[in-house]
Amino acid sequence: GPAVGGKGDKKKETKLGLSASKKDDFGNWYSEAVIESEMISYYDVSGCYILRPNSFAIWEAITAFFDKGIKALGVQNAYFPLFVTEDALNTEKNHVEGFAAEVAWVTKSGQSELDRPIAIRPTSETVMYPYYAQWIRSHRDLPLRLNQWTNVVRWEFKHPTPFIRTREFLWQEGHTAFATQAEAEEEVLQILDLYAKVYTDLLAVPVYKGKKSAKEKFAGALYTTSVEAFVPATGRGVQGATSHCLGQNFSKMFKIEFETDDGGKQFAWQNSWGLSTRTIGVMIMVHGDDKGIVMPPRVAPLQVIIIPIPAANLTDAQRSELSAKTAELAAQLRAAGVRVQCDDRDNYRPGWKYNHWEVKGVPIRLELGSKDMEKKSAVLARRDNGAKEVVPLADVAVRIPALLEEIHADMYARSSAEFEECKETATTWDDFMAALDRKHMVLAPWADEEEIEDEVRKRSATADAMGAKTLCIPLEQPDLPPGTKCFVSGKPAKNWALWGRSY
Ligand code: AMP
Repeated sequence: GPAVGGKGDKKKETKLGLSASKKDDFGNWYSEAVIESEMISYYDVSGCYILRPNSFAIWEAITAFFDKGIKALGVQNAYFPLFVTEDALNTEKNHVEGFAAEVAWVTKSGQSELDRPIAIRPTSETVMYPYYAQWIRSHRDLPLRLNQWTNVVRWEFKHPTPFIRTREFLWQEGHTAFATQAEAEEEVLQILDLYAKVYTDLLAVPVYKGKKSAKEKFAGALYTTSVEAFVPATGRGVQGATSHCLGQNFSKMFKIEFETDDGGKQFAWQNSWGLSTRTIGVMIMVHGDDKGIVMPPRVAPLQVIIIPIPAANLTDAQRSELSAKTAELAAQLRAAGVRVQCDDRDNYRPGWKYNHWEVKGVPIRLELGSKDMEKKSAVLARRDNGAKEVVPLADVAVRIPALLEEIHADMYARSSAEFEECKETATTWDDFMAALDRKHMVLAPWADEEEIEDEVRKRSATADAMGAKTLCIPLEQPDLPPGTKCFVSGKPAKNWALWGRSY
């Protein structure tokens, strides 16, 4: 697998933070951050990674939130097989063209060749819809709204990056069918809102909601909406999740027809929508620092680490008193719904422990020293900004839940301010390129022409930076005064698109 990079042997022995800097050496910083925090282990199949408990717990938190949200909308969970026949995969022409290059095939069982190779799902439209066609007969069978939590495989050729672009990833995929276009379109935006909330309310990451250009939409969709995040450290946008209106494209190909009230036949209106473990990578890239991960409190596997700091000359009785007090605080916090642990290993010094939990990004460290015990107080240290405060022991179980919420709010405020700073408006090519050079995303007016996207991608590529593309056409459009021209072609602009280099 890729090298962890730049790590001096000394650092390895003493484990003092990360050796690569986020600002100067982002690639190595990211690799080191995900490894040292024990979120990821590299694996001996390229593009595949092991999600260790420290990252899987975040996925579980996202899963719980989103699952509850879709069930409230009336979606049910189901499970469909991993394999797709070649015939089913080929049913929707645009769709299969979009995915063909990335599909992995099973060609053998043991030593014998299969008569017909079987594909591994890159997404499950073609797995599910033949059965939707069987199940949906009349308008009374609609809406049909199913979701599954699964893995999918896309044999990506772009450089793999843990969480962000992997060849196998975990996601949810929702697949719904409605009698009317209006119902389908309403759901597209409800799901998009839930996706935005995963980023803003759980991960403290701001996103843009928008529509993809025709060039960037999902293969086979009528249109694609997405939430787009941005990584200021690299100046690259990242597609956070997508909610597609498939229109009747798939229902026509898969013959998902229903009988209407008056005995006529109509094709169903369909949506599909997906959110993957990429979310975790975005969170790390946006919030992490040179000490390691900074976990947003609502998804942090561990929210508080308690570290006793015994004075050198303690008697055994005083030591066990300190230890009993930390255990009592942990129990109080647990009862208050806080995810907490005591690090009372006596073979590590407190300084080593501070570092150990900082790399992992635990939002609050509670230090309890012998002196603090006398004063009946503890020190709370924040991972996100390093601030410390003294809190009476009697208040710990009340103060910490409130502080966790403050940390979430502060992290979101900081990432939002940075997001705003990284957003520029340009109406000329020169201003556009200058903004990209400043590692910013750019709102620019255009006439919604695919050729222009191709041209922008080519012309904006430099010796050390990839070309830019449209990230989305934001749903909330700035005013577009009549006479505004495309910043490239000079033709009358149709909308403001958000452009940027991207993952
Ligand atoms: P799609 O079905 O292509 O619209 O993908 C749905 C979502 O999954 C995208 O918006 C991405 O956030 C995420 N995704 C797509 N490809 C990958 C990948 N190779 N690794 C991780 N996440 C991915």
